[in-house]
Amino acid sequence: MIGVTENLRKIRDLLAETAENAGRSRDSVQLLAVSKKQPVSAIIEAASAGQHDFGENQAQEGIDKITEITDPRLTWHFIGHLQTNKTRLVAEHFAWVHSVDRLKTARRLSDQRPDELPDLKVCIQVNVDEEASKSGVALDEAGELADAIMDLPRLELRGLMCLPAMRDEFEAQRVPFRRLRELGEHLRDKGLPIDTLSMGMSADFRAAIVEGSTIVRIGTAVFGPRS
Ligand SMILES: *Cc1c(COP(=O)(O)O)cnc(C)c1O
Repeated sequence: MIGVTENLRKIRDLLAETAENAGRSRDSVQLLAVSKKQPVSAIIEAASAGQHDFGENQAQEGIDKITEITDPRLTWHFIGHLQTNKTRLVAEHFAWVHSVDRLKTARRLSDQRPDELPDLKVCIQVNVDEEASKSGVALDEAGELADAIMDLPRLELRGLMCLPAMRDEFEAQRVPFRRLRELGEHLRDKGLPIDTLSMGMSADFRAAIVEGSTIVRIGTAVFGPRS
């Protein structure tokens, strides 16, 4: 896994530069290194280079890595589609879930969060392009789910996440991210404690940062192609 350290340095510089060009502070954007389908050795290299937040999209694969690496400095984020039968594993091993899109899943995560762990930080995944094939709540349903999550004792609502359809053009890439930002502002105006916008990946993180992303989820540009 040659190059992870160097890739991280480049990405961090790019994130900082993009944030500053957008009139934001350089540390207002957090890098989540998406380590799905990457070997443990690559994660350990990234951790040695100061990267502490990692994202996984398959519960069992993520937990295998979490239990093998056991580095207390690391924070693990679940970013994949969450099946009902996997909520317990996720509640027991991850610090964040970015992909909550149903009240049933949220209830289970809260019920199954172990007492000795801090509240599970969650984002609501929003289907910003209203694509039939994608997970996520509709834009006009996010408020209701957010209110319901506020009543769940072991979840800490942090924000919104999206995974928009691919677009090549920068201005076109901004459109779905702007929708998520505006939804976040709307929910904040209603009193919800939204401080996180999880948006932007290797191909579109610049557009996401310009639109206010606070966590970019980047895999390929950090680790190279997935096996
Ligand atoms: C894989 C994945 C990413 C990272 O994608 P890259 O294009 O490799 O940066 C981000 N978010 C989610 C939800 C993913 O599944």
